[in-house]
Amino acid sequence: MWEGKLSSWVFRVEPIEDESFSHVLGRFRRANVLSYGTLAELINISRADSKEEPLCGRAEVENWERPSSRVHPSEHALEELCRVMQNEKMTLSDRLIYPSKGTVGKGQWHLQTRLCSACYAQVPIHRMRWQRSDLAVCEEHGCKLLSACPSCGLGFRLPSLWAEGRCDRCWLSFAHMGEWVKRGVSIIESPM
Ligand SMILES: [Zn+2]
Ligand SMILES: [Zn+2]
Repeated sequence: MWEGKLSSWVFRVEPIEDESFSHVLGRFRRANVLSYGTLAELINISRADSKEEPLCGRAEVENWERPSSRVHPSEHALEELCRVMQNEKMTLSDRLIYPSKGTVGKGQWHLQTRLCSACYAQVPIHRMRWQRSDLAVCEEHGCKLLSACPSCGLGFRLPSLWAEGRCDRCWLSFAHMGEWVKRGVSIIESPM
């Protein structure tokens, strides 16, 4: 019943190969002008039995978008999220989400958000593979993965908040950061 209503207004967002879960969720929320809380409500009302405990709340949805929290939706919550997003292809896998706490060694994933400017110029998404801690450079382009703007040094925001595709402080676009580094104008390492 509610699905019929939902399908009349929802803007679908297709996850792209290697796109991080955080980035997919951010795109979906922006496309549909949904707050964390409203998305949580939609996930909860989609269940058959509304007397059950809520599957998630505002804080959980916010944490799903924050890779360093390593908080995952439960299987049931993910199922309902896929129904809300009208996307059956999205599954909990390493392609879309960081491994949860305890499933991998701490050092295997780089928790600070990183970027390959050349990849972003091709497809403007945040990619899972940039976060692998065994990689310092992009396997495809051979350039160093950035964790801060090379012009002003500001660290990148969460992937789900990449609405503009540019630095929040100096407005250098992600797609142009690679050229900036190549020209050697300034390379600022982000503090670890
Ligand atoms: Zn690349
Ligand atoms: Zn900047």
